[in-house]
Amino acid sequence: MEAGDELKLRKIIHVDMDAFYASVEQRDDPLLRGRPVIVGGQPNGRGVVAACSYEARAFGIHSAMPSVEAGRRCPQAAFVKPRFPVYKQASQQIHAVFREFTDQIEPLSLDEAYLDVSRNSLFGGSAVRLAREIKTMILDRTGLVASAGVSYNKFLAKIASDHDKPDGLFCILPEAGEAFVATLPIGRFHGVGKVTEARMHELGIHTGGDLRQWSEAELTREFGRSSQYYYRVARGIDHRPVRTSRTRKSMGAERTFGDNIRDRAEMLTILTALSTDLMRQLEEKSLGCRTLTVKVRFADFSTFTRAHSSSKGLLDKGAAERALPFLLDRALAMGHQPSPSGKSSQRAGVRLLGIAFSALLPLSEELPVQLEMDWQDPQ
Ligand SMILES: [Mg+2]
Repeated sequence: MEAGDELKLRKIIHVDMDAFYASVEQRDDPLLRGRPVIVGGQPNGRGVVAACSYEARAFGIHSAMPSVEAGRRCPQAAFVKPRFPVYKQASQQIHAVFREFTDQIEPLSLDEAYLDVSRNSLFGGSAVRLAREIKTMILDRTGLVASAGVSYNKFLAKIASDHDKPDGLFCILPEAGEAFVATLPIGRFHGVGKVTEARMHELGIHTGGDLRQWSEAELTREFGRSSQYYYRVARGIDHRPVRTSRTRKSMGAERTFGDNIRDRAEMLTILTALSTDLMRQLEEKSLGCRTLTVKVRFADFSTFTRAHSSSKGLLDKGAAERALPFLLDRALAMGHQPSPSGKSSQRAGVRLLGIAFSALLPLSEELPVQLEMDWQDPQ
């Protein structure tokens, strides 16, 4: 067996609730059933659509659209304020169903998760039958409908769950993965955003098959760091493991500079940008964190880290930003002390800055604190 074959034997299920927030609202209020329902801001305000029912989608309404625009397109729609505690409760019931079958669960948001069921022997080892059972149990316990995708990696499982929505159950078998990707429009690729999609269209890349014509070197020239991912998924290959909150202990980012920097304000700006970006990624994965670490590497490669842990609950964006100057100053101060070897304390600037968030835990275990603009439930 070749090394890659083992990865083709994985069984991954991607479960995604259909129009989650809107479906919860329709479940709880019979008057909303069968009607266009928009969860989010009011049509006379400045808010946006967080989620909408399938009846509302028929009017071209989608999440992140200004509510004013949604009201124009569908004046008869019911506009409902989000009730996050109720969504969170449903999310916990859904996760409890997952846990009856596997502990290999990677939550992506309140209503979406990857499950690795490779080692599950129920239903004769059929991941499709297992996915059907999960859908049935979710419906029985929550009154809500899920779609599920089954495949041998995360990329294809996610595409599969979207393929038959709503109430979908679709499987992409290992031998069909490459051909399936070849016909797939590039905009449907998870990880290809609007900007990249437009750029790919300009380059004549409209489907996975088109993308496959490009060598890794050509892709790198056009798309930089993401090229290896594009190269692989165009071939139906995705080795990323399902990361449970236990296996994923931290998340970090760093930047190396061509010219060493000395200006503290500039350093803080960079650290804040890294922090904002990582916070967003954590939120997308429904993860929170308690510890923030700042790393400073000087021109002579000496490296110092300083960490801050929250004693009460999760770190939010504000708390992280308040800790950054303090941690930076402490790391810089360490760098300016003479080292035990008697080396100079002049380290000639900073060549790398990094931050990491650790002590991660799923937000579903703690009530998420969300801002209005974060009410987004794309499917
Ligand atoms: Mg969904």
